[in-house]
Amino acid sequence: MSTVIQGRIVTDTGLIDDGVVVVEGADITDVRPTGRLRTIHKRASWVLPGFVDIHVHGGGGHTFTTGDPEAARAAAAFHAKHGTTTMLASLVTAAPEILLAATTAYQPLIDDGTLAGLHFEGPYLSAARCGAQNPAYLRDPDPAELERLLAIGGVRMVTIAPELPGAVDAIRLLVDRGVVAAIGHTDATYEQTLAGIQAGATVGTHVCNAMRPVHHRDPGPIVALLDANEVICEQVADGVHLHDGMLRHNVRSAGAARIALVTDAMSAAGMADGSYELGGQPVTVHDGVARLLGDGSIAGSTLTMDAALRRAVQSGVSVADAARMAATTPALALGLERIGVLAAGAQADLVLLDDELRVVDVLRRGKPVAE
Ligand SMILES: [Zn+2]
Repeated sequence: MSTVIQGRIVTDTGLIDDGVVVVEGADITDVRPTGRLRTIHKRASWVLPGFVDIHVHGGGGHTFTTGDPEAARAAAAFHAKHGTTTMLASLVTAAPEILLAATTAYQPLIDDGTLAGLHFEGPYLSAARCGAQNPAYLRDPDPAELERLLAIGGVRMVTIAPELPGAVDAIRLLVDRGVVAAIGHTDATYEQTLAGIQAGATVGTHVCNAMRPVHHRDPGPIVALLDANEVICEQVADGVHLHDGMLRHNVRSAGAARIALVTDAMSAAGMADGSYELGGQPVTVHDGVARLLGDGSIAGSTLTMDAALRRAVQSGVSVADAARMAATTPALALGLERIGVLAAGAQADLVLLDDELRVVDVLRRGKPVAE
């Protein structure tokens, strides 16, 4: 029994203006122009690959950062309704025992596919660019601690500041173990950033945010990451983390094949303004902008990936490129196969959108995501 979905289809090679995606079980078996086909089961203005969020801390009132598996399932379900069919759970800088306990607690969610793995945003980050990361727990890269965490399994990406003592070796260790090394929360010079990339780093964590800013005589990590062909650069497209003009510039500079939209969402995504927390620090959300109560640092976002896609399009990116940035490129950043593309043989993860790019339906592994 197959399901035929019709609409404007974003494929890995371009756009089919009037096409169908044929789903059988958990897989896509065909993507082609509609032609004379009569049996259509679902229709939408746009049919995009399911979104892939490689940097997200929570949503819908639930957080990944405390290591509570039920909260993590609820956060994943919240984002699935907004089109994210594959996600990492991003943990923030914390005491070693919290990172160990959370990594252990999330193994069943990784095994059953709720999560594609874990992302450690810290603790090996720059105190000067810590943003909302708790400075009390920042530390220099510790290979023994890293080995203990990696031994549990499921760690897919680790963000590191490459200028810290031992950071280049830590990046090498991660890459050796098949873990993506990301550069972020960094005060590195251009040259120190290049050393991290040479050691194997392939992702830039929310590029522009929590980084030494660009100066024409001191271009720093932003220019180094955007210019490196082997690096995929995360962008938080909420109009708060980045000016729309900066987002557009970065997309033009690196290309949609090297820009990954991320939400960096915290628990308040999809919730009312009010008081929340991130990694044990109090956060106030006002007009949808999350800030640390203490110093007012931006503390993650309240984005969902469909909203990020709309913001990117509003800033001048084509729908096809925005879809690539929300699905194809982040899947590539993690080396995931059969994910993030609408093509025969791919996993049947689809987002159906109306003319305003609002989500009308989501399929994950061929099954509708429950309301
Ligand atoms: Zn984050």
